[in-house]
Amino acid sequence: MDLAAFERNLKRIQAALPAHMRYVAVVKADAYGHGMPQIVRRLMQSGVDCFAVANVSEAADIRHMGAGWPILVLSPLLPQEDYFLIQHDLTATVSTLDECERLNSLALAHSTIIKVHLKIDTGMGRLGVWHDSATELLAKISTYPALKLEGVYTHFSSADSDPSFTQIQRKRFLDVIATTTALPPELLIHADNSAGIDTLSSPSPFNAVRIGLLQFGIPPYPESALGRVAVEPVFSFHTRIGLIKELPAHTDISYARTHRLSRDSRIAILTAGYGDGVPLKLSNQGSVLIRGQRCAILGRVTMDQTIVDVTDCPEAKIGDHVVLIGKNAPNEITATEFSHTAQTIPWETLCSVTKRVTRVYVGSREV
Ligand SMILES: *Cc1c(COP(=O)(O)O)cnc(C)c1O
Repeated sequence: MDLAAFERNLKRIQAALPAHMRYVAVVKADAYGHGMPQIVRRLMQSGVDCFAVANVSEAADIRHMGAGWPILVLSPLLPQEDYFLIQHDLTATVSTLDECERLNSLALAHSTIIKVHLKIDTGMGRLGVWHDSATELLAKISTYPALKLEGVYTHFSSADSDPSFTQIQRKRFLDVIATTTALPPELLIHADNSAGIDTLSSPSPFNAVRIGLLQFGIPPYPESALGRVAVEPVFSFHTRIGLIKELPAHTDISYARTHRLSRDSRIAILTAGYGDGVPLKLSNQGSVLIRGQRCAILGRVTMDQTIVDVTDCPEAKIGDHVVLIGKNAPNEITATEFSHTAQTIPWETLCSVTKRVTRVYVGSREV
């Protein structure tokens, strides 16, 4: 993980955003697999406005790293988790009247206030109050003495693939904002994630963005406006050659014999498999970089090993460094390419590297 690249990405994204736009750093799922403590520390050093995570346990981890930082919990809370909001000074996402009632009563019982963002469903079909009923719920929230409305937001379902549906969602959201009178002045109004910031037109009530993938150097939608921000990958994925051997033509390779050698071959056995996060879907599909050269994956990826063809890479030897994702001059396999070959998306790829894989950090900052 290249923390210096991560910080350069932050600076470039922040520079590309309008000055008043607040930066909500989305660091759920162990900061997209990059390691919550390292990433959050860097974000605190570099300066962001708010953190967003999925649940109270992730939020508590951030709170232990620093008091005072606003932390938004994106997912709904189980009733038995509500008290963590008070204990760790967190901000909840609410979608229903029931949640508002529940949190208001809890806050009253503890003579305190709970901060909330109201989420509006404008077409994602997941969390949030359906946009038709949002104005009503917004009005209602202001009547709860122990709730403080700090934000209103929505989430786009197809920001990286369908700009016209994103515009429909944006309009539904803006209609709610426009028909609601007396919104608190400091209210955070946000919708855009890494892919959506492109479609953000300048004069609008939006004053915050929620950035996840892009800050890790993977543009979800490279063709568009924020695709112009030159971000660099933070994550790279490496293994080594554990064994090399020669096999005659017509030998079957790996479980279920899904590949048969077409020629006398030299194969390398890599010391990583799906137990490390090399997707089974890369079987007979993907390739890796050894000494700057692309080498094809042969047969099924197994739990602990992956077999590649090094017949055309005669210098390959035991112990060689192997790149699964990253640069190995003159070649590169991006997380996007890797995910595409594995028929998945970069978000899942980053979350799929297992505990067994040692995380190595470079570019740390002395403090
Ligand atoms: C994960 C998440 C984001 C960040 O999305 P990216 O595409 O990774 O930028 C933003 N908002 C919500 C509600 C999320 O769950």
